[in-house]
Amino acid sequence: MVILAPGHGKVVALRRQHLDMAKPYEPKDRFYLKAKAQGLRARSAFKIEELADRMGVVKPGIAVLDLGAAPGGWLQVLAKLVGPSGLVIGVDLVEIKSLSLAHAKTLVADVTAPDFPQKLAAITPRKLDLVTSDMAPKTTGIRATDEARSLELCEIALRCAEAHLRPGGAFITKVFMGGDFKRYETQVRKRFEQVKVMRPEATRDRSFEVYITAKGFRPPRP
Ligand code: SAM
Repeated sequence: MVILAPGHGKVVALRRQHLDMAKPYEPKDRFYLKAKAQGLRARSAFKIEELADRMGVVKPGIAVLDLGAAPGGWLQVLAKLVGPSGLVIGVDLVEIKSLSLAHAKTLVADVTAPDFPQKLAAITPRKLDLVTSDMAPKTTGIRATDEARSLELCEIALRCAEAHLRPGGAFITKVFMGGDFKRYETQVRKRFEQVKVMRPEATRDRSFEVYITAKGFRPPRP
């Protein structure tokens, strides 16, 4: 079975070995065990590790905003990659246990709330090099509803990137493959020079999630 999902001028094929609903769900798979062994807070840490490596934008000294960061797996990886000369800010609705690193800040906030930009500005006034979003809504089990809620968060993440990225900056967001995926991808392409859809190895076989990775931010004209 090959599931064809919309890409830009071509299709992204999610092959059966990557999207296998027949496989039993294994909560403690090899990525879970590897994360435990390495002291990482979430197995999803391996997703951002792979995406960052493939994009080549996460370098020492850069400033990153990580939306939907709890419990902090991505934050741990990003903090290591940007190093003490950089800055990572993790935001979530729930508290993120501190990483105890001066260059890794955490913020309890709703990214959709009108006061979010002020809360962020209180941490840093600087423009950012990268905005990442692994935000996920509370799932209902109704696929259409979950996809629509997830897409709302993706749109907010894109608006946040537009507001806070420096020209040339980068963006990574989780998206669920669904009816409006193509429309969203088109919105991202309007703002960035290079856009790719990636599915990291640590993504669960049964998951419909992919990541849109984008480089070369072009700010909207004032
Ligand atoms: N990347 C994280 C890690 O590696 O630890 C895992 C993120 S988890 C899959 C998704 C997170 O998105 C949840 O912790 C949830 O609270 C957060 N989230 C959902 N809606 C949000 C919102 N409106 N504002 C901030 N965070 C949100």
